[in-house]
Amino acid sequence: MREVYLDYSATTPVKKEVLEEMLPYFTEKYGNPSSLYAKGFEAKEGLMLARTRVAELIGAQDREIYFTSGGTEADNWAVVGAVKSRKAKGNHIITTKIEHHALLHTCEYLEKEGYDVTYLDVDKYGIISLEQLKEAITDKTVLISIMFANNEVGSIQPVKEIAAIAKEKGILFHTDAVQALGNVPIDVKDLGVDMMSISSHKIYGPKGVGALYIRKGLVITNLIQGGAQEYKKRAGTENLAGIVGFGKASELARLNLDSHIKNISELRDYFLSEIKSKIPDVDVNGSLEHRLPGNLNLVFNYVEGEALILYMDLQGIYASTGSACSSASFSASHVLAAMGLPIEQAYSSVRFTVGDFTTKEDIDYVVAELVKIVDKLRSFSPFDKDHVMETAQKCNCQA
Ligand SMILES: *Cc1c(COP(=O)(O)O)cnc(C)c1O
Repeated sequence: MREVYLDYSATTPVKKEVLEEMLPYFTEKYGNPSSLYAKGFEAKEGLMLARTRVAELIGAQDREIYFTSGGTEADNWAVVGAVKSRKAKGNHIITTKIEHHALLHTCEYLEKEGYDVTYLDVDKYGIISLEQLKEAITDKTVLISIMFANNEVGSIQPVKEIAAIAKEKGILFHTDAVQALGNVPIDVKDLGVDMMSISSHKIYGPKGVGALYIRKGLVITNLIQGGAQEYKKRAGTENLAGIVGFGKASELARLNLDSHIKNISELRDYFLSEIKSKIPDVDVNGSLEHRLPGNLNLVFNYVEGEALILYMDLQGIYASTGSACSSASFSASHVLAAMGLPIEQAYSSVRFTVGDFTTKEDIDYVVAELVKIVDKLRSFSPFDKDHVMETAQKCNCQA
């Protein structure tokens, strides 16, 4: 059976060039980068090259990149580290209702510790209002954390404008750019952000490695205590092979950025036009402007999203409802809810994300299968308009 992976926002396969560069660091270049002999220097060289490559992808200096265990740790560190270091100034954080759980749950934890958190609304396109942001700022605000691009609907926030507002008020600004990395041109200097979270496994690198960009001159409290690694800011022997892989993936992402964006947005647009022409009653969640190039989040009206996922799985097609982290639990997406989508439409929503290994043939296969699956599920559905009419006619009563 054909296998079609359309969940690149959940994770991506490691590219061959990335794996090849990683392999020697398990078996030959296994030294500890902190050791003061040749084997250690060899490992340290790998670490330094990776740092340069990651820095280049976002327009940062090498010294501003701190490797972590992933996007989740980077989010935790940015928020906890920033507010702890600014305790004397205040205890108020501004974020949004549509953040990744790595950010939302960290804020909820801080609320229990006595911090005040404002969760900004978003419009029906999943975008915040800059006016609301300005109004939410108080004397006690120490941190604004707003994601660059959303993992469910792909909405892209006005990051540069937010950074300018934060700077004017002397407030730190962090952005979770895990989804934006490699999909949107990013230059931290041009944007003016103070901190930025990124992750390797969303850009064809290995899992379990990411980084926090911290603007030069900014000092935040450490999250992990121990040795002197990462300029004494993030302790623990480095995940060297992982970091080397992240570095290679970053280099590829930088070199291929334009063609990657062009290819996946064309595929996404083709996918949408095929679905629109072959399946009735399908809506797009969010706007097609200000959106990640590979993201498509659709409402298949009168169908349960979870059922659609299971039927697609039987045909070798992988997509998701909500985010990877919430798809195992049975609650509707907090992102779609914040965008004001009615609950039944939220339950009928499915996220497809295309990537570098997706082909036009994959899309044709998926659309052909979707036509059959949606038709079948709608024939079961008590909410299907036609079905309701047919049943009503059969029993000779009014629908
Ligand atoms: C995947 C993701 C994370 C978490 O990154 P990990 O490396 O998996 O810990 C954080 N934020 C966003 C927006 C993500 O998509």
